[in-house]
Amino acid sequence: MFINSISYKKISAELAAKNVALVAVSKTKPVEEIARLYNLGQKNFGENYVQELAEKYEQLPKDIQWNFIGHLQSNKVKFIAQFVSLIQSVDSLKLLHEINKQAKKNNRIIDCLLQIHIAKEETKFGLNENELQEIIAEIVGKENQFKYISIKGLMGMASFTNDIEIVRNEFKFLKSLFDKYSQFTMLREESFRHHSPFTILSMGMSADYKMAIEEGSNMVRIGSLLFGER
Ligand SMILES: *Cc1c(COP(=O)(O)O)cnc(C)c1O
Repeated sequence: MFINSISYKKISAELAAKNVALVAVSKTKPVEEIARLYNLGQKNFGENYVQELAEKYEQLPKDIQWNFIGHLQSNKVKFIAQFVSLIQSVDSLKLLHEINKQAKKNNRIIDCLLQIHIAKEETKFGLNENELQEIIAEIVGKENQFKYISIKGLMGMASFTNDIEIVRNEFKFLKSLFDKYSQFTMLREESFRHHSPFTILSMGMSADYKMAIEEGSNMVRIGSLLFGER
């Protein structure tokens, strides 16, 4: 088994000193390995498949904070709505409506991040700036339609490349959107009660988290550095 308590302690101390939250990305990893990290003190985990997440939720301690970080289809929201703590990958208004509906059924407010497409690759999901603007305008304009969600900030995944300047520029771009729209929501704070201001900027993975933090990230999603290669 890979999990090395020394590397976990080192990374979590490094992040805590910088006030950066750690989401341990446990996709494809068995519950035994997740439990091991949990016993070292980690409470925040990330998964990207609905069924896998629902099964792990059943088997693991109920005070784990589960983050959904993969592409989420609207018809699957119902399987995680009861317990998910942060859906990081909201990329459409349709999905937001469905999350709101399922949150209402479960009598809770679900925290969400809007996923921004910052990478060059077409295969990655997320909103462009215009789409982000449209979604924010819709939420601000029709706030009572979205009583059961709370938009906490933005998430993005950089390009898969060795060219670190490309990655750095993508992080800078995401941070600029975070600053720009965080302010936008604050201006309307009174009518934008649940959604203002942005507090979470989720960017950075095993290979690039240090750079992401230099560029303003306050939440990193780390898988292979903690659990080994998938
Ligand atoms: C898999 C995944 C990660 C973690 O990747 P590592 O390179 O293993 O740290 C982070 N974010 C998302 C959205 C992922 O799908």
